[in-house]
Amino acid sequence: MRRFCVFGNPISHSRSPDIHALFAKQYGHEISYKKQLVSLHGFARTIATEFNQGLAGANVTVPFKQQAWQQATKLTEEARASGAVNTLIPLPAGGLLGANTDGAGLLRDIRRQGIDIAGRRVLILGAGGATRGVLKNILDANPETVWIANRTAIKAQQLGDGHANVRAVTTWQTVSGVDIVINATSASLSGKLPDVPTTVLGGAQFVYDMVYGPGRTSFLAHTAAVSEAQLSDGLGMLVGQAAESYRLWWQCEPPQIAPVIEHLRHSMD
Ligand code: NDP
Repeated sequence: MRRFCVFGNPISHSRSPDIHALFAKQYGHEISYKKQLVSLHGFARTIATEFNQGLAGANVTVPFKQQAWQQATKLTEEARASGAVNTLIPLPAGGLLGANTDGAGLLRDIRRQGIDIAGRRVLILGAGGATRGVLKNILDANPETVWIANRTAIKAQQLGDGHANVRAVTTWQTVSGVDIVINATSASLSGKLPDVPTTVLGGAQFVYDMVYGPGRTSFLAHTAAVSEAQLSDGLGMLVGQAAESYRLWWQCEPPQIAPVIEHLRHSMD
């Protein structure tokens, strides 16, 4: 039996053990996947101990993703670009490969819903860790333009630096014809709305909120009132990023995400 773990603080809310148990069922793999609360100063020691004792892989969540990036001896391109690691894989010759699977998870969920980013105009709201984690995958999907709008504008500008088709939003007058809106702010967690004109939402065909929960998020409820856009919350991204971790650990085809999303959705009702 291979042993896996998710490390975080807090961690009790994590659905990762359920998700990985459902993936393992798809393949007939025998796994143990536990959640472990790590003290704020104990991350490096904990992962060293666990991997020395044969841990086959780990997920890392708030607030340790940057520390995991520093601890990894090798990084995937996505992890290098994002500055954060959510998946650790022991390397055969020793050391740890750090990956960031958020972008792969988001793209898989968006494609599952019939949306293609190629040639489209994409607006990302927010410029925190989640945006950093997905930007490379979004750019790799060949959008025409990516705008990034953030409450603290300088962070959006820094993320756009060095990318020809990424623009930080300084005034909404420069933003037009947006096809896809991705809310990567945490505003919905507190029932708030990020700043975005209703005209922008009204013209979009697909609007995604990375936050998820029972019922519509505040952002998706607001969007539904002003737009005909197809809507999605971030539950599928959660399952998609887990599927990518699973693929990296088991070196297999990524597991099916649709039945797992459905299972979690029912369990939240
Ligand atoms: P960070 O704390 O790194 O960044 C938060 C972002 O949200 C910043 O851009 C911040 O703006 C913005 N923000 C926060 N509150 C408001 C508000 N009231 N109005 C406008 N903007 C606001 O968080 P992450 O980037 O790591 O995560 C963002 C969200 O994405 C979280 O809710 C997280 O749960 C979700 N997420 C979901 C995943 C999934 O699998 N579904 C995966 C990863 C993240 P400023 O810079 O001005 O502070």
